[in-house]
Amino acid sequence: MNLCDELTIRMLLERHGFHFSKSMGQNFLIDPQIPADIAAASQADETCGVLEIGPGIGPLTSELAQRAGKVVSIELDRALLPILAETMAPYSNVEIVPGDVTRLDLKALIGEKFAGLRPIVCANLPYYITSPIVMKLLGDRLPIESLTVMVQKEAADRLAAVPGTRASSAISCAVSYYAKSKMMFTAAPGSFYPAPKVTSAVVRMDIRPTPAVQVEDEDGYFALIRAAFGQRRKTAANAIASGLGRSKESVIAAIEAAGFDARIRPEALTLEDFAKIQQALAAQ
Ligand code: SAM
Repeated sequence: MNLCDELTIRMLLERHGFHFSKSMGQNFLIDPQIPADIAAASQADETCGVLEIGPGIGPLTSELAQRAGKVVSIELDRALLPILAETMAPYSNVEIVPGDVTRLDLKALIGEKFAGLRPIVCANLPYYITSPIVMKLLGDRLPIESLTVMVQKEAADRLAAVPGTRASSAISCAVSYYAKSKMMFTAAPGSFYPAPKVTSAVVRMDIRPTPAVQVEDEDGYFALIRAAFGQRRKTAANAIASGLGRSKESVIAAIEAAGFDARIRPEALTLEDFAKIQQALAAQ
């Protein structure tokens, strides 16, 4: 079955009485090149166990199944389960896990399903919860080697941005702390059914063996970064002071003690710079 053929999809969905749910971010791929390219970007091979989020009717799942040792796909919408049972029937190495990715114990799931395989994540993510999913996948310190995800282009730009450069944001810093990220390619709205309003893009994140910087208090470090980016167009000092509930004078003193101008913007700060400011604040 061609899972990217619009007519086939419509007939399949109609036969199962399926209706698209906007609230679940359902935009299914209809350009057959894209799932093949996402799977190739993930570098999945027979030594890999691939965790997929949101298989939909399975176009990416089938591409992954042809390359990987095993594919485990988490799908929230139970209405898709009978469709997946039909479309994934040819693949003995695919297992569908019903559930919400944000609520599942992914560490346990990976341990249980991927013994002897190298776990990776590959997905065309539901766009309404891109950041929470990426943060959970990275922050939970899952035993995965890489994440290859399709998201809205704007979100992809943030995931791939290097801290200390203009496009950087709190999530760019978090991604960079845990992984090395790379923008892979973009996909036009017409590659999906129904078509979203915006362009999409694929980002690959290779998990670092150890975080990019050593910090003593990781929670405090990320709280500082979130505060710094919490109020766009403000200086880092103003944003950190209001975000962390500290006096502006003490934050400016820490920023200057760390070697920066008091008016520096958060986008200009690298991961090491934030670590220095955290240390200077802690030393006060
Ligand atoms: N992989 C398919 C494709 O590329 O055609 C579908 C991708 S669609 C953008 C996102 C999928 O994620 C949908 O199947 C949707 O039902 C599912 N989904 C949405 N929220 C989810 C969640 N919290 N946990 C797991 N799956 C979810």
